[in-house]
Amino acid sequence: MPDSMFRRVPKPTPPAVLEAVSYAASHGILMSSAKHATPGTSLVHAPFTYYPSPFHAESYRHAVEITPYLNSLVHRIASDHKYLKDKLAATIESDEFTRRLFALLACSEDQPQQRRVKFSICRYDYFMHVGEHGEYRLRMVEMNCIAASYGCLGTKISHLHRYLSSHPVSNAHTSLKLLPKTDALHALPAALATAHKAFLDVCAPDSSVPVVLVMVVQPGDTNSYDQDLLRQTLWEKHSLEMVRLSLADIYQCASLDASSNLTLTLSDRSQPLIASIVYFRAGYTPNDFVSEKEWTAREIVEKSSAAKCPSIAMQLVGTKKIQQVLDQPGEVERFLPEEQAKKIRATFARQFALDEDEEEAHRMTQTAMENEMDFVLKPQREGGGNNVYAQQMKDALRTMSAKERAAFVLMERIRPPAFKNVMIRDGMAVEDELVAELGVYGVHLSVGDEVIDNSTGGTLLRSKPASKEDGGVSAGIALLDSPLLFEQ
Ligand code: ADP
Ligand code: MG
Repeated sequence: MPDSMFRRVPKPTPPAVLEAVSYAASHGILMSSAKHATPGTSLVHAPFTYYPSPFHAESYRHAVEITPYLNSLVHRIASDHKYLKDKLAATIESDEFTRRLFALLACSEDQPQQRRVKFSICRYDYFMHVGEHGEYRLRMVEMNCIAASYGCLGTKISHLHRYLSSHPVSNAHTSLKLLPKTDALHALPAALATAHKAFLDVCAPDSSVPVVLVMVVQPGDTNSYDQDLLRQTLWEKHSLEMVRLSLADIYQCASLDASSNLTLTLSDRSQPLIASIVYFRAGYTPNDFVSEKEWTAREIVEKSSAAKCPSIAMQLVGTKKIQQVLDQPGEVERFLPEEQAKKIRATFARQFALDEDEEEAHRMTQTAMENEMDFVLKPQREGGGNNVYAQQMKDALRTMSAKERAAFVLMERIRPPAFKNVMIRDGMAVEDELVAELGVYGVHLSVGDEVIDNSTGGTLLRSKPASKEDGGVSAGIALLDSPLLFEQ
């Protein structure tokens, strides 16, 4: 463990900070400065750490190794609608958003099985955990089955850290061998291109109609440049066009043809387009469904022949409830061979239901209220900033009815080790103690029963001040980072 190096990091000199910021700006490590800011007029560099953060090498390898197993797990659960129905029964009663999603589950069943192209990009997130004897282990924070972002900007941060690792003006010198290549910027567009080709092979739309990929976005998202890197790489490397549309746009322009192809009539195109893949970077929060129009758009997409990334079923696999269920003995094992299940299970923190057995829910509520620093209360939401911690959790649990409580799960609180680093935000360098969260992208593609791709799509490291409980990069709390691997 490179203790001396990382407990006392030297502050970078002003020219070194300038070099890092200038690298970020000139390599497109950018965000909008505010939601709904006019594109191109309000650019700031995305927040990043000056140093790569230490991450336990064996834990990193463990996370990469189990990614294809997790992909299979997500895929197999998503194909088992009865399982989803059973396990989400109580959640649907108490959480309106999950209920609305669930109501669309049957839409995809109209497609003949052999024509079903299923494609997912998930991201599995982990903290390091320090065991009783000081040993480092991997602990899964959650599985993201929709809109896992920052892969492309994350790749650029690893390039930035590699650049600084040898540049004369920088004091962040380190061996390149300790900085693993994290190539989501290459892997995710390549996976989308393979999925697009599978769609063409299987659905063979009329060759005179242009076929495009669609990215469903939130209007005014500050993270549009991460999305654009992906879109533009698809064009540059694979000659494939991806159009950005909001759910409201889709409501306006989409219809299904006789073969259930998703047909888009855009005002700036001379002819309609057909969608091969609909890749969601929106649609994970009730805020994305401001009216029934957005729900109608989501339904049209689900009914279409396009591969949904994710389908409603996959999105439901990513609910906190299903992740809690998987922690129970025998559940992962229903879907995977024992050896694979064991390696996944080794990363699980304990999770508890608050919906099934009334007595058990009451007992767990009491335990959590008496030990409020040891648990996290999680609702069925995505995108950060939704979890409830500490005193707020205690207050919430005390006042909730049994039905309200059933919309949440309780999770053991993971205590990742903190390391000093320097945060670069708006060109300013600020030292702090940070905790790092590793994300590993997994891509999975199947046609009918045949699996065509099941692989790792690169990694991402995001760090946040150890003093903050929650909050992502977009929320202004976390920063983009990359791992500096250490052997224990
Ligand atoms: P979301 O889907 O909203 O991103 P997460 O489960 O990833 O929800 O939680 C958001 C953040 O909360 C994580 O990035 C992490 O920083 C923190 N967090 C989540 N679960 C735990 C946990 N069990 N222990 C400690 N922190 C957690
Ligand atoms: Mg999430």
